[in-house]
Amino acid sequence: MNKFYPYDYIDSVYEFDFKKLHEDGVNAVIFDIDNTLVKHGAPADKKAIDFFNNLKEIGLKTCLLSNNKPVRVEPFAQKTGSYYIADAKKPSKKNYYKAMELMSSGTEDTVFFGDQIFTDIYGANKCGIHTYLVKPIHPKEEIQIILKRRLEAVVLFFYKRYKLRINKV
Ligand SMILES: [Mg+2]
Repeated sequence: MNKFYPYDYIDSVYEFDFKKLHEDGVNAVIFDIDNTLVKHGAPADKKAIDFFNNLKEIGLKTCLLSNNKPVRVEPFAQKTGSYYIADAKKPSKKNYYKAMELMSSGTEDTVFFGDQIFTDIYGANKCGIHTYLVKPIHPKEEIQIILKRRLEAVVLFFYKRYKLRINKV
């Protein structure tokens, strides 16, 4: 089950300390878009644009890695000034490597943020990239995703127990 566990589970990317992450040696960040940065299908809003500008000021490179179509991903990437890969076919490893190639980074200085365990987190873990699972922004989701969330809930249950155990040591 460990291959489904994120390194950490956070409420929102917008409340996360990216400056600290950079100080700790991270140079590049891969993001899922839908339900990680904005609601599913929503355009890049001011909050997202400001967020990406801030990441650039901090000195972080960014790449969007989405299984959604280019017509959804490309405008989002343009507005946020980010590298992007659409139709990424996560959890396949291929495009995580491509993302690192685009940012001239490696597994030791790249991290990933996404909201789905079986695509986002599993794929990044397979590549040896540090993963942050983000609480999905919007609760209203398609039925396939709702079913996946139930399976995710099982993994999260064991993950939280595992985390408690580690923190006790
Ligand atoms: Mg997502």
